[in-house]
Amino acid sequence: MDYNALSELLFPQITKTPEYFEEKYPPRQLKEGARVTRFAPSPTGYLHIGGLFGALTDVMTAKATGGVSYLRIEDTDKKREINDGVSAIINGFDAFGVGFDEGVTGFGTEDGAYGPYTQSQRVEIYQTVAKSLVKQGLAYPCFCSAEELSAMRETQEKEGTAIWGYFGKWAKCRDLTFDEIKAKIEAGQPYVLRFRADGSEDKKVIFEDIIRGKIEMPENIIDEVLLKSDGVPTYHFAHVCDDHFMRTTHVIRGEEWISSVPKHIALFKACGYKVPKYAHTPQVMKIDEEDGTKRKLSKRKDPEAAVSYFVEKGFPKESVLEYLVTLLNSNFEDWRRANPTADVFDFPFNLKKMNASGCLFDLVKLTDVSKNVISVMNAQKVYSLVEKWASVYDKDFHKLLTSDAEYATDILNIDRENPKPRKDISQWSQVRDYVAYFYDELYTPDYTMPANISAEDAKAVLSKYLEVYSAEDDKDTWFAKIKEMCEPLGFTPNVKEYKKNPDAYKGHVGDISTVLRIAATSRTNTPDLYMIMKLLGEDKLKARINNTIENL
Ligand code: GLU
Repeated sequence: MDYNALSELLFPQITKTPEYFEEKYPPRQLKEGARVTRFAPSPTGYLHIGGLFGALTDVMTAKATGGVSYLRIEDTDKKREINDGVSAIINGFDAFGVGFDEGVTGFGTEDGAYGPYTQSQRVEIYQTVAKSLVKQGLAYPCFCSAEELSAMRETQEKEGTAIWGYFGKWAKCRDLTFDEIKAKIEAGQPYVLRFRADGSEDKKVIFEDIIRGKIEMPENIIDEVLLKSDGVPTYHFAHVCDDHFMRTTHVIRGEEWISSVPKHIALFKACGYKVPKYAHTPQVMKIDEEDGTKRKLSKRKDPEAAVSYFVEKGFPKESVLEYLVTLLNSNFEDWRRANPTADVFDFPFNLKKMNASGCLFDLVKLTDVSKNVISVMNAQKVYSLVEKWASVYDKDFHKLLTSDAEYATDILNIDRENPKPRKDISQWSQVRDYVAYFYDELYTPDYTMPANISAEDAKAVLSKYLEVYSAEDDKDTWFAKIKEMCEPLGFTPNVKEYKKNPDAYKGHVGDISTVLRIAATSRTNTPDLYMIMKLLGEDKLKARINNTIENL
């Protein structure tokens, strides 16, 4: 067979050679040990939390080694592609501050010297490499129709062959002659281009997965499709060309690709490329609420599978990143304790320390992490993040907040910026309810008093408080007054004393505070009551207390 003539017959339009692209995309000049990683999603218009997790792995690996991470869009599968499926992915990364060094930056925009970074714009590269494979006898056209292929699969199934696919005696087009091929092409028969595999079923390919260690699998024997009948490459072929010409050193991707590695190694070798290092990341799992089993986070069943869920609920990006990195490397928490204020991207991430057996995504844990993260933000930061969130997701609340930004910031400052800040906000969508009693527009009074306090006693407490109240009191004076109220009303200022002798009193100072708290806020649990009363102001506070007295 004259392979050269065959390559010209199949690719008359291709005039470049692989050498051209070798020169155009030279090896990167990076320091020893620097890793080049890529995140390579299909443009589905949806960013799964596992995608954010994978992208973090890429970005942090590159950062920790002084390397480069880039974003490549793999859009050769037209069936899955949606119109502008890129923006949702990019917006998802932006929302969480995950930035790549190179690659696609938006719908139709990109940055970097190794582009284009969108596969549909790289067809000339794939076809150039494909032509060169044909020239070396390493690829051939296959004219089998979809019907023939499914008939083949059915027979294989019936015969119970160990491996299904296009190989060996099943590979009918493998040995067509030049004239047969030419005749079919001239007759307008569609064809795909297949790889001429030279692996052997009883030989092993061994590779080192950075996360999983040594993996051994049978060599690839399948004549995989490289180019589909429209000349567009399959994922298998496209990513090999891209990872080579983009000079990727480390292919980090989901574990569902492990079984394809023998095929990929065979392709890298056939093309004459260095095989990259592999790291197959574990799936993001959850415990099913219903049956308690561990399963993959599902796009269909779990709203939290979509990164947009966290944006809509108003989880700060810091919280989500912080939590995801604890899942990536278990030593992150120690590092965080030693470096409480450091940027999460300064963490010396290590692929080797990733856990190979699925990582468990736990919304409750994330919520706790988020409470911690938010508790150490200052009030200005909290205000500006809530304001930004509400401007999109809660417009009415946004109006209230911004009508008096100073008031709102003062509210958010209660029990904050001290060594033991309150930890009760995990997401911005909670803030409306959290601050509701500060705004008449959001306030619904509820005068229900605790069961151990009679209406008469509650009224007496409130009336007495109105007598002693002064807007000028500092916190100590305020509290001293509350304690002084206790005994004349039959309560004790001393909680220990009350516990020793409960029958001697109607209650203790805590009960008095509760009555006041309910009158002021309609809640039994709030941040610092002194500050709340101060911010409500004399008029509003007195009005609420009077209302409570009337309604008891
Ligand atoms: N486009 C592939 C996917 O979305 C990427 C696999 C890889 O990272 O190599 O699964």
